[in-house]
Amino acid sequence: MRIDIITLFPEMCEAVLSESIIGRARQSGAVEINCHQLRNYAFDKHRRVDDAPYGGGKGMLMMAEPIALCFEDICKMQGKRPHFIFMSPQGKTLTQTRLKELSELDSVCVLCGHYEGVDQRLIDEFVDEQISIGDYVLTGGELPALVFTDSLCRMLKGVLSDEECFERESHYNGLLEYPQYTRPANWRGREVPEILLSGHHANIEKWKDEKSLENTLKNRPEMFFEDEE
Ligand code: SAM
Repeated sequence: MRIDIITLFPEMCEAVLSESIIGRARQSGAVEINCHQLRNYAFDKHRRVDDAPYGGGKGMLMMAEPIALCFEDICKMQGKRPHFIFMSPQGKTLTQTRLKELSELDSVCVLCGHYEGVDQRLIDEFVDEQISIGDYVLTGGELPALVFTDSLCRMLKGVLSDEECFERESHYNGLLEYPQYTRPANWRGREVPEILLSGHHANIEKWKDEKSLENTLKNRPEMFFEDEE
């Protein structure tokens, strides 16, 4: 998959996306990620990409044309139009189910908003989907884009060492994961559940399933009543 991120802070995105699992996935070619400096598509000598909103109101708004030029350039570079996502608190909240679907695509382009957001005409003309990372407002779209990119990348083939890593994780199948333990078997008087030391594979799997249900019921009971969209 190829992911293009349009941002005013490419260094901030690169710093996160060059580390750890995603950094290694980029190096191995399991995913290609490009961060684009939106100011390179500004058309005045001050490289401005924002202006005051019509009708008044506080703050500035990102202008449509630099974003349009950047997205068109990305389309040209790829020879095709990627699925265009705008990170926005007005979008649908990101879910593991949506990530699963999006991980099937060849190419996505992610726009990070800033200031008060983006001229609505750009959204109407180009954006395929608006995605929120939760019902709260951040100062910019970089952190949401990084959350989105990280959670999307780990669903791609070759990023994690074993697909099972995410198939039993929280949210993948509508449940939370079971509790996990590592050495020592007794930590400050707290024992690891005996079944996990038994070596009985079938019983351990059964225990994991039961604990997964128990965890979900205890921590997020509403998940049992959520409809898959
Ligand atoms: N004025 C906008 C509103 O009320 O909907 C909020 C703008 S916010 C200060 C600036 C940018 O941060 C947004 O354009 C978006 O890209 C990003 N952002 C903030 N909160 C977000 C969230 N919960 N999910 C995704 N993106 C978010």
